[in-house]
Amino acid sequence: MYAEIPTGLSEEHEAIRTEVHRFGADVLRPASLQLDLLTPGEVVEQGSPLWKVFRAWYELGSHASSLPTAYGGLELDAAASHALFVELGWAAADLAISLGVAAMPFQLAAQVALLAGNDRLVDELIRPFVEDREARYVGCWAITEPGHGSDTLGVGRAEFHDPAGAGACRARRDGGDIVVSGQKSAWVSNGSIATHALLFCTMEESRGMAGGAVVMVPLDLPGVSRGAPLDKHGQRALNQGEIFFDEVRVPGWCLLADPDLYPTALELTLSHANSGMGAVFTGLARAAFEEALTYARERVQGGKPIAEHQLVQSKLFTMFARYQQARALSKAAMVGLSELGGIGGLAHAISSKVTCTDTAFAVASDAVQVYGGTGMVRGILVEKLLRDARASLIEDGVNEFLGLVAARQLVDSYAC
Ligand SMILES: Cc1cc2nc3c(=O)[nH]c(=O)nc-3n(C[C@H](O)[C@H](O)[C@H](O)COP(=O)(O)OP(=O)(O)OC[C@H]3O[C@@H](n4cnc5c(N)ncnc54)[C@H](O)[C@@H]3O)c2cc1C
Repeated sequence: MYAEIPTGLSEEHEAIRTEVHRFGADVLRPASLQLDLLTPGEVVEQGSPLWKVFRAWYELGSHASSLPTAYGGLELDAAASHALFVELGWAAADLAISLGVAAMPFQLAAQVALLAGNDRLVDELIRPFVEDREARYVGCWAITEPGHGSDTLGVGRAEFHDPAGAGACRARRDGGDIVVSGQKSAWVSNGSIATHALLFCTMEESRGMAGGAVVMVPLDLPGVSRGAPLDKHGQRALNQGEIFFDEVRVPGWCLLADPDLYPTALELTLSHANSGMGAVFTGLARAAFEEALTYARERVQGGKPIAEHQLVQSKLFTMFARYQQARALSKAAMVGLSELGGIGGLAHAISSKVTCTDTAFAVASDAVQVYGGTGMVRGILVEKLLRDARASLIEDGVNEFLGLVAARQLVDSYAC
């Protein structure tokens, strides 16, 4: 019997991986398939399978898996986090992203609190999030604007410092508060359901995109409103939507990074997000490979299973090899980044995101090919995997542009 090569996890972490796999198979994947067929409005309605997923995840305490033990989190090490996100991605990449993004603002806030000390952040946001078992605290990451997409992520590039390129969503200091006005685009993941936004906006226009601020914004404050949930062809279980800010007054202790710290905060966030994407879409590639293998063994055509045809075997092997490459790369990037303390490994995180999402798309496309006509039918998993993987080539940064961001770092500072 052929089995997956060992993960190298401790017994304790292997048990977590097994538990997350079971959660993925029993809860996440069936919910994602159901949500895929609903309208975006139905996806976010109370009573939809989305809330069953969120409540089950928070009930397990897994939503706080990356938060420090100092604040009650599980503080999984990087290898265990990698295994966890691969399992979630295997089950349903769209919901894996939704659950991952839900924790993002609280993770960055915890890092800031650990470094700078901020009791209000800890008492009013981080601990309540960690202790939450009903999904009452749900985060989102809001950076893209209607007039600003790839350029918001161009940390290190010359145009990032061009005053003419500053973002339109603005924050200003007013007394001890921060006042926010402007709009974030319909692409904000969890934008329809989030209770808190990790808002990346402009504070010093004269510095261009680099003059930003990161503000934790509770989304029940006066002046916050939202657009309708976005209707898209892939990752349909991942709710997305616009958020508008009209003179929203946020207490000063919610400022996580001012313009001096902004490029570092963005690099940290981008590195974290990209390495997470690498792991999630490694999982999707594995799901596509496994679906194709199972189908090829079962589908009898011309008198024998199609798995007995050499061309099908060749395709299956290529899919397997690509998945294994993604698995090794995404793990190395996540572990390496953690050893660096989250900063200094952006090019590695981007390599992981770009390679693993390209791989997921290629392997999902091959899986549809192995299925033949059946692979085009709604309700067949590989058809959904292909749509979900397609979105990942744009999500958290268009792959081509992320490559330019990484290249800038390599040209400027790679030691040969
Ligand atoms: C599934 C999904 C989830 C997302 N989640 C979030 C989220 O949680 N929060 C959030 O804020 N945003 C989110 N986004 C938005 C995402 O980060 C942006 O879509 C992405 O950064 C690209 O921006 P854009 O769509 O405006 O494309 P554009 O920036 O307009 O780019 C369009 C094309 O032009 C190319 N291009 C742009 N600039 C350059 C350049 N300087 N040189 C060469 N080529 C260039 C790009 O490569 C691309 O091919 C999500 C998007 C998707 C699809």
